[in-house]
Amino acid sequence: MLGPPGAGKGTQAERLHEDFGLLHIATGDILRAEVAADTPLGTEARRYMDAGELVPDEVIVGMITQRISGGDARDGFLLDGFPRNERQADALAEALEQLERRLTAALLIEMPDEALVRRLTGRRMCVKNPTHIYHVEFDPPKHADVCDQDGARLVQRDDDREETIRHRLQVYHAQTEPLIDHYDHAGLLRRFDGNRNANEVHAHIRATVATLRLEEEL
Ligand code: ADP
Ligand code: ADP
Repeated sequence: MLGPPGAGKGTQAERLHEDFGLLHIATGDILRAEVAADTPLGTEARRYMDAGELVPDEVIVGMITQRISGGDARDGFLLDGFPRNERQADALAEALEQLERRLTAALLIEMPDEALVRRLTGRRMCVKNPTHIYHVEFDPPKHADVCDQDGARLVQRDDDREETIRHRLQVYHAQTEPLIDHYDHAGLLRRFDGNRNANEVHAHIRATVATLRLEEEL
């Protein structure tokens, strides 16, 4: 899944996980778990995350390579938040080649920057399960600051502050956006308009993934 911060990658990946049983691998969630557990990796990553910068490639690539080699990834997986630059895309291609697997598609969710700021400042996340995502305006929980699914508290991410958001968007345009051409040239790119409601975006992506799956089986 490709797209700027706040485009809805996590929201859609969770739905596709339910539709197709694909393992959802979100680098941001893995990193935040390391931060919460106070591991050395978490301590290193946190500095970059709080500043809205990318965590060094070495850290991320090792993490992902291990994750996609696991038995639970055998029937397919969705990468959410990786790759985020050309070096990571090359490392992914290499890791997949070694596993004798290949990328089926790059699903791009497009959104203008101004809409993204509103998306991200209103985002709330469950403390117990980071895949439970809400929005104060667009997808509010039934009770303020409480997760509908498990009753845990909802929090705002440290990096979802306007100043950090603006910097993350700059990082996206400078480092991640070139991957759009990269995957377009490889014939893998599929584009979706993220500026629609989550159900509409989901319907479009689900139809595309269903078609891709059928083609794989033929
Ligand atoms: P969002 O989807 O809102 O951009 P993520 O949860 O994907 O946020 O990422 C949060 C932060 O984690 C990023 O700003 C960055 O610091 C770090 N991060 C996540 N994925 C990567 C990656 N592939 N490479 C480098 N840093 C990453
Ligand atoms: P990403 O993983 O790309 O950073 P998220 O899935 O975390 O994005 O979504 C960012 C915020 O926008 C969340 O608060 C989420 O509830 C909300 N959101 C996601 N998709 C939509 C949509 N289509 N319309 C309105 N709000 C959305």
